[in-house]
Amino acid sequence: MKYAILGDIHANFEALDAVLAECERLKVDKFLCIGDIVGYNADPGRCVETVQELDVEVVIKGNHDEQASVDTELIGFNPQAAMAIEWTRNQLSEEQRLWLASLPLRKTLDARVTLVHATLDVPERWGYIFDKFTAAACMNYQFTALCFFGHTHVPLAFSKFGDVSGGRYDELKIEPGHKYLINVGSVGQPRDGDPRAAFVMYDPDDRMVRLHRVEYDIQACQEKIREAGLPERLAQRLAAGR
Ligand code: ZN
Repeated sequence: MKYAILGDIHANFEALDAVLAECERLKVDKFLCIGDIVGYNADPGRCVETVQELDVEVVIKGNHDEQASVDTELIGFNPQAAMAIEWTRNQLSEEQRLWLASLPLRKTLDARVTLVHATLDVPERWGYIFDKFTAAACMNYQFTALCFFGHTHVPLAFSKFGDVSGGRYDELKIEPGHKYLINVGSVGQPRDGDPRAAFVMYDPDDRMVRLHRVEYDIQACQEKIREAGLPERLAQRLAAGR
């Protein structure tokens, strides 16, 4: 069984489409999604539709999915962010917003795998895991060998065997008795300096987790952002992978 784990798609249809083509080539059996399907980029409705049409076993809610699915007044956001959220809300159908609202914040898939967008301890606070201390705090609430997460858009992996250690990774062999907390990177807005779309494949049979990177049509995505009148910075950061 080959799983593809997709995270932080962020309304970037060009990146999602390229990732799905690569998944087909790699003969993925099942998809898992750790949230933030919408926000930042210009194709929220199409990305929601595409995820719904996939054979997705679990879809988790991200903070942007939540913002897009509610009608609460946008207090405390800078004007650009508030404008982008408002824009996204208007792009989605009522059914799509209800579907986003219905997604769980975390979910245990089976005896081995848990999924969450931000952190397991208090997922609705949307905390960030960038170092082994925040990873260790999260792992106290992890009761499966593996947990896949996102939110930072930086693919880092932490493992616990006594102490917690971690860092960048390309592939990981899952060792018995270890616990792993793995950020799958971002499909639609990578922030690790590599502009290529990121996703992870997990194969429970050979106990391997692999990070994949895929080139996509960044320019096409940037043009849509500009046409939509979304902030120019959102277009520029895609090319830099920041
Ligand atoms: Zn995100």
